[in-house]
Amino acid sequence: MTVEPSVRVEDKLFYNRYLVDVGRPHIKVRAHTKPSAQLLALLRACPARCYELNDKGQVEITVDGCIECGTCRVIGEPTGDIEWSYPRGGYGVLFKFG
Ligand code: SF4
Repeated sequence: MTVEPSVRVEDKLFYNRYLVDVGRPHIKVRAHTKPSAQLLALLRACPARCYELNDKGQVEITVDGCIECGTCRVIGEPTGDIEWSYPRGGYGVLFKFG
């Protein structure tokens, strides 16, 4: 039996390129003092690790590395925890590098 080498998501993300739409994030986290269960789930669900806890225990997002997979949209948008849209044309992730 042949064992295939494992591939980590982080290794593949390195090949992506992003054009950041400065000042116009395409995903926004609803203002909160204590994160909901959905927001906390995003810390683990996002494959690009765009979601983090700040020093106040609130969930924040940095969209610069977003691969637009939609996982957080499924988890957080129905509950109103996030607002999700695609980046404006010409901005966002570029997959052509690998
Ligand atoms: S769309 Fe995917 S990669 Fe982008 S922030 Fe949401 S979960 Fe992360």
